[in-house]
Amino acid sequence: IWVGVLTWRQSSMGATDHVSAIVLGRCLTYTRNMHPELRNQDCKKILNTFTSAFVSKDPCNITKEDYQPLIDLVTQTVPCNKTLFWSRSKELAHQYSGIQKEMFTLEDTLLGYIADNLVWCGDPRTSEVKEEFCPYRNENCSSTATSVFWTVVSQKFAESACGTVYVMLNGSGTTAFSKASTFGSVEVFNLHPDRVHTLHAWVMHDIGGVERDSCLGSSIKELKSIVNQRNISFFCQDDYRPARFVQCVRHPEHPSCSVLM
Ligand code: NAD
Repeated sequence: IWVGVLTWRQSSMGATDHVSAIVLGRCLTYTRNMHPELRNQDCKKILNTFTSAFVSKDPCNITKEDYQPLIDLVTQTVPCNKTLFWSRSKELAHQYSGIQKEMFTLEDTLLGYIADNLVWCGDPRTSEVKEEFCPYRNENCSSTATSVFWTVVSQKFAESACGTVYVMLNGSGTTAFSKASTFGSVEVFNLHPDRVHTLHAWVMHDIGGVERDSCLGSSIKELKSIVNQRNISFFCQDDYRPARFVQCVRHPEHPSCSVLM
């Protein structure tokens, strides 16, 4: 019996408690408080459309079409030149966009904001939002409610970008750019070359950490080649100063934080 229980537990991960309440609360905070220009959005309808995508369904076989009504319901435009993608650099990207309020990561838009850091799923046997155990995404369960959601909203976020777009990458990990990431597999390929003329990459390094990759490395060359093939110009900058200054809050004495650098 114990072996069975352990196997079941190991193949699941904890979903977030009270997903519906959190999503509704975040929607109200975002539309009433943070972005009052969106105060006419109907958060109860947004919540119902969100949960309808996956409740009562097989938690391993959610489709992009399941989330289409939500995508159609929540239309929000990010101004040109203000889109910030990120990969392996979530915390710094959000700290930066939290200060440079003109810039929008996906999680600074309503759809990204309501779902960030949550895990959710449905169950064919009930019409409830599961809040205890949701299956891990793996080769036998590739299309979970959470992962399909991020694929769909990331695609939409990239499709609607315009002007110069930015991406913050992490040069302290193995590779700054990975074709397997959502940025490398979804966002890059859904930029519209007729609207997006330039992708600007910032490769950031942890202060006091290793510098494993940089703008001169082969992963950035690969990114440049993918982007140029799509008729979009590409620029890369190591340790973009304004983002470095955000890192400097925790390391004020580091030489790279000096104004003389
Ligand atoms: P990353 O490798 O740093 O992944 C970011 C986080 O999202 C990780 O915790 C990862 O496990 C998770 N994640 C990534 N793709 C996922 C998916 N399809 N399903 C479930 N979880 C997933 O960076 P990345 O893969 O390039 O993703 C970041 C980019 O894509 C950003 O530009 C953002 O717009 C978007 N995105 C955001 C989230 C999020 O959790 N807020 C998740 C996926 C994608």
